[in-house]
Amino acid sequence: MKKKKLIHKIFPSYLIIIVISLFAISSLAVYKVRSFYLKQTNDNLLSIARIVDAHVKMEFDAENLEKLDLICKTLGEKSFLRITLVELDGVVLGDTEENPVNMENHADRPEVIQAISQGVGVSTRFSPTLRKHMMYIAVPHFQNNQLVGTVRVSVPIVELRDAFKSVYLWMLGIGLLIVLLSAVISYIIAKRITSPLEKMKVSAVKFAQGDFSQRITVPDSVELASLANTLNSTAVQLQKRIEIISNQRNEQDAVLSSMVEGVIAFDTHERVININPAAAKILNLEYEKVNNRLLEEVIRNPELRNYAREIFNEKKSREKEISINDGQLILQTHGTILYDATGEEMGFLLVMHDITAIRELDTVRKDFAANVSHEIRTPITAIKGFVETLMDGAVNDPETAREFLEITDRHINRLNDLIDDLLTLSRIQELGEVESIKVARKNLNEAVNSALNDCKHEADDKNIELVLEAGEQFEADINSELLERAVSNLINNAIHYSPENEKVIITLSGTDNEILISVKDNGCGIEEKHLQRIFERFYRVDKNRSRQLGGTGLGLSIVKHIVKAHNGRIEVKSVIGKGSTFTIYLPSGK
Ligand code: ADP
Repeated sequence: MKKKKLIHKIFPSYLIIIVISLFAISSLAVYKVRSFYLKQTNDNLLSIARIVDAHVKMEFDAENLEKLDLICKTLGEKSFLRITLVELDGVVLGDTEENPVNMENHADRPEVIQAISQGVGVSTRFSPTLRKHMMYIAVPHFQNNQLVGTVRVSVPIVELRDAFKSVYLWMLGIGLLIVLLSAVISYIIAKRITSPLEKMKVSAVKFAQGDFSQRITVPDSVELASLANTLNSTAVQLQKRIEIISNQRNEQDAVLSSMVEGVIAFDTHERVININPAAAKILNLEYEKVNNRLLEEVIRNPELRNYAREIFNEKKSREKEISINDGQLILQTHGTILYDATGEEMGFLLVMHDITAIRELDTVRKDFAANVSHEIRTPITAIKGFVETLMDGAVNDPETAREFLEITDRHINRLNDLIDDLLTLSRIQELGEVESIKVARKNLNEAVNSALNDCKHEADDKNIELVLEAGEQFEADINSELLERAVSNLINNAIHYSPENEKVIITLSGTDNEILISVKDNGCGIEEKHLQRIFERFYRVDKNRSRQLGGTGLGLSIVKHIVKAHNGRIEVKSVIGKGSTFTIYLPSGK
């Protein structure tokens, strides 16, 4: 049904009530005035009839007709009334208006009949003689106590009607004026009722839209004021609740967003009800567009999808390791059923922990352990072999014995170097992970020079010239023992992988916020494909060559960790056959 405005309901009803009551009151008033007027006229006519009756003393017969008629005409003229004298048999003996001789017999006139039978006769009707509506009053006329006829007095009723016509017109005019006035007043009243309601409606709509910046102005009527107050306090309550809910929501979002684990929740229809950025990243989804999407759309990996469904179907929390994206991501997944506050099941939740790095680390650790044992076993096996051979009699041949002992010594040195490197590596790693290394503001030129001196002996063996190029003195926050170790590792490598009679150039330079230590050789160079891996533990481009040179395969790995512990980085540029340049970048800490 079409809704009407309140003002359109109130205003017409007001108007109808006013018109009806006005009509009723005026009708009643007109009726009462008319009745009063008629009764008054009636009474007046009766009095006059009685006066005329008393005035007429002569016999009621045809002989006195002229005299009687004269009385009627004289009195009638003076009183503006019509007076008629009727004999008992109905013959008219006198009349104010007409010649009685010409008048018809009046015995059948109702007022005449009534006057004779009841004492007073009243009639209102059309007079054929005068062609007017008349009111007649007739009284019996007695002579010598004998009824001889009737005296009738009449007045044209038309005059009455005329009198009322103006009354009606007046009443109509005033009525219309009242209707108009009351229409205006009722419109104003209706407006006064509805306009605060309109204002309240506007504010209520704002409340519904979550805008609580304004309150409803309290109207002056008791009922509307209490409604406005109720709405205002409802708004306050609502605002508080919304604030609480949105705070809770924000806290929840903040917790979920800062979680490393991916969290995704589904409703019972397998639609996403909540997801955190970590989960969106793991599942390769756009975080903002995930809500309300189906399980099928958001989890493309069949194993993970089936696992989620199993959790929901079997109603059991479980953990599983699932690898997705062709094994690139390994997830430790925990699935659980979600229940609302009433204990009703509302969906299920997956928590995904990316353990790819942990698994990779596991692999690296396993590989490292295998590498270490292999690296250690090789010299030990060799030593054992030579010792056994010596014990088996070779010791008796001084020349062989010496040769074997020299080889054994080399292997022992190798073992020593290996253990030394392993210990250094684990120490730096531990320092880097658990606590930071101890640093002090030191002159870098001195540290680099000291590293250079450490390598001098080996360089001299190959007639390699070590050149230090430093335009100025540099200072940085360093652990000089470790940094010297890193630089000497680089210089040693440069010496090892360069032919004899070459130059190794060590340069110290600076940028705005970094100090660069580069070690450049003109050696064999490194193939592009190995560049990324040479910093891994035990990674060697040429295993045999490295071993022959007494390398442990840990040198660059140690350099990388020392540089990292100094918050720096290392880069390598190399051209096969031409040489390599290793550059350490250290924060200048200015
Ligand atoms: P190693 O003890 O074998 O030298 P490193 O970790 O120091 O172990 O180096 C790893 C590998 O990187 C070496 O085996 C070698 O193949 C390569 N390499 C390192 N420095 C140089 C260099 N200056 N020139 C050519 N190859 C190098």
